Amino acid sequence: MIDDQSDRGVFELLSLHDYGEVHIALDPGTQLRAIIAIHDTRLGPALGGSRFISYASEQAALTDALRLARAMTSKAALARLAHGGGKAVLMRPEGEFDRAALFTSFARAVDGLGGRYITTEDSGTSIEDMEVVRKRTRHVCGFDVSNGGSGDPSPFTALGVRRGIEACVKFRLGRESLEDIRVAVQGVGNVGYHLCRELAAAGAKLIVADVRDELAQRAEGELRAEIVPSAGIHRSECDVFAPCALGGALNDRTIPELRCAVVAGAANNQLASDHNGEMLCARNILYAPDYAINAGGLINVAQEVAGYDADKARARTLLIYDTILEICERSAKQGEPPNRVADAMVREILQAKR
Ligand code: NAD
Repeated sequence: MIDDQSDRGVFELLSLHDYGEVHIALDPGTQLRAIIAIHDTRLGPALGGSRFISYASEQAALTDALRLARAMTSKAALARLAHGGGKAVLMRPEGEFDRAALFTSFARAVDGLGGRYITTEDSGTSIEDMEVVRKRTRHVCGFDVSNGGSGDPSPFTALGVRRGIEACVKFRLGRESLEDIRVAVQGVGNVGYHLCRELAAAGAKLIVADVRDELAQRAEGELRAEIVPSAGIHRSECDVFAPCALGGALNDRTIPELRCAVVAGAANNQLASDHNGEMLCARNILYAPDYAINAGGLINVAQEVAGYDADKARARTLLIYDTILEICERSAKQGEPPNRVADAMVREILQAKR
């Protein structure tokens, strides 16, 4: 559920999220109603996907855009990319509409920003939509490899998560390899499945759950994973719990039930609230901050902007190990939860650019 913070005015919302600028594009002819949030451009042009979903209210759409763009700033900064954070939210019209016309109109709005915001696909948008956008602006990326693009980001996200898990396992369990480490993967969709393959190849033992039975069965059949019911996977006895489904997996209800030493997964917004980071610390569970560990897909697509080179994208993604290890070390030294340490590191990186 999106808290639409509907009692707040626009400028109050902007200062609450440390903004930044927000652009509104309205085109009654195509039913385009878009909000383009540019959170920060100190490190470079804002990069972030375009969402095309139904929102209960304009306020909910604005709040979503502001939060998502801010998270992109943090993700790009910790991944040491020359990009800031941005996000576009397109309110899906009710009833009939001409999709190509709507995305053409959106492309004009993106183009009008002169490259301060670079878009790509996200929830509710596709590579086909981005091909439409590409006809009107060059400030778009995320295309098929066959069209000069960076392709599916999921394997890169999974690679980065595997590296982050390795860093946590070394830090918390003192182990150099994932051999026989038990990992419970919640959600074996695009990223979760690739992650399971990475982990199995490294010798880890897998426990999986997915609300789609056929996806859990694929992991069982191909990777000898043990299937458990999706409602209880967070209670599995394991070394690492890897949330790879929806946000909010770590909350007041689930944290007391965890039976793991480490939480490290791909899902965005894993902590339902900041105080859940403290709860994990109090239980001596090491948490790899989501935006630090799941940056592999962003690193891959950012490489497309620079001129796509899969080897470079892979090499940069491997460095997620170092970032996660640094967060763990600082967290232990300062007695601060890793999520707060990661936020502080983002502020340091941005301030160094001021
Ligand atoms: P996906 O939709 O392909 O996979 C999610 C899977 O979780 C689906 O198979 C779904 O059936 C399953 N699921 C949903 N609710 C569940 C539940 N309660 N219990 C168990 N399984 C459940 O999405 P994805 O692209 O793999 O992304 C997964 C997460 O990682 C999302 O939070 C996404 O925002 C985040 N993420 C993805 C990427 C990427 O490159 N795709 C990058 C960064 C972050």
